Amino acid sequence: MNILAADYLITMDDERKIIRNGAVIFDSEILEISFDRELAKSKYPDAAYEYLGKNSVIMPSLINAHTHIEFSKNKTTLHYGNFIDWLTSVIEKKELTSEEELESSMADALLQMRKSGVGALGAVSSFGKDIEILSRSGLRVTLFNEILGTGEERSEEIKADFMRRFELTKRYSNEMLTPAVSIHSAYACSRTLMDFAIGFAKENSLKMCTHFMESKAERFWLDRSRGEFKAFFKAFFGIERSAIKADEFLAKFDGLDTMFVHCTHANETEFESIRNAGSYIVHCPVSNRLLGMKLFDVETAKNMRIEYITATDGLSSNFSLNLWNELRSAIFGYTDLSLKVLPYDLLKSVTLNAANALGIDSGKLEVGKKADLIGFCLPGFVDEDEYLPLQVILHTNSVDKLIVNGVSING
Ligand SMILES: [Zn+2]
Repeated sequence: MNILAADYLITMDDERKIIRNGAVIFDSEILEISFDRELAKSKYPDAAYEYLGKNSVIMPSLINAHTHIEFSKNKTTLHYGNFIDWLTSVIEKKELTSEEELESSMADALLQMRKSGVGALGAVSSFGKDIEILSRSGLRVTLFNEILGTGEERSEEIKADFMRRFELTKRYSNEMLTPAVSIHSAYACSRTLMDFAIGFAKENSLKMCTHFMESKAERFWLDRSRGEFKAFFKAFFGIERSAIKADEFLAKFDGLDTMFVHCTHANETEFESIRNAGSYIVHCPVSNRLLGMKLFDVETAKNMRIEYITATDGLSSNFSLNLWNELRSAIFGYTDLSLKVLPYDLLKSVTLNAANALGIDSGKLEVGKKADLIGFCLPGFVDEDEYLPLQVILHTNSVDKLIVNGVSING
């Protein structure tokens, strides 16, 4: 049994409780939340007790629900500001990464996430080269094996490659690593591959994720087979028309637990459809600024009772996998939202909401939840509880403690 004590506990519970001078008592699960750390110490004299120090904070560990570890290289060579320019630069620079560079870039990416307090992640795997390293990361991983391909003629080959990667993921799966499925997007998949992946996810009760409405180009292409994607698809793939309209694409996911990633150019009807299906929306503010030139409409989503998730996406569309940077970017991007409300919502988006989307029984400090916790110190005292989430986001870059499943993981 362990006792971890701090000056502030951000519980992320339904009452948004913040406890001062409290403690979390845990083994692999949270056994008790104490409102008095001295009392906790005397109640369990045999437990390992640790107080994290002056101005310390304990909260649930962070969850980065959407990232691409295999795209952790090419940090400075990609073209930002226009989605098609970026996509073209990703395709052109792909060959530049050697196996050694890939391995070390993935190791760096995981280290950066651990240091920042990420205890669980949703990793989209395009080639299966990240499965092994993710399996020994010590983190909870939902590994979304991705399917992608627009031409019908290569369908069988692509399906076989997907199955190979999925079987490999299954071999590594355990309590910490869960196989899942990703359809890259409506514009980058043929109907045959979409139907195959959706059928497979349904048959095997797997989580699903897909990029959706990330750019103006995608909006025009799906709605009218026009816009910047027209020349792109003609040049690269000889395709003249979008394979599917947005509403038909969304309807295919009925009955699945899906994370729709980005949705920056989605409309209210699409928000409604995602909400009514019990699915989730993930936004990635930095990536959305760099590629889609538009942030996700958090306010409308909130008014529509959509609990969104914040994530970093991969390093091909971000300068950092540190979720605190992502949350700060959101704070400075959403200039008209309250600094008493938005910071708490953002913390919830990378803890409880992300846990719910990935089906992990964590994300809040509550008895019976998995003991996935972080501890860190603020540079000073916070007098009003309602400003604590903002101060935490402004001042935190790394954590002193990352505990996953009750076990302390070194940064
Ligand atoms: Zn992505």
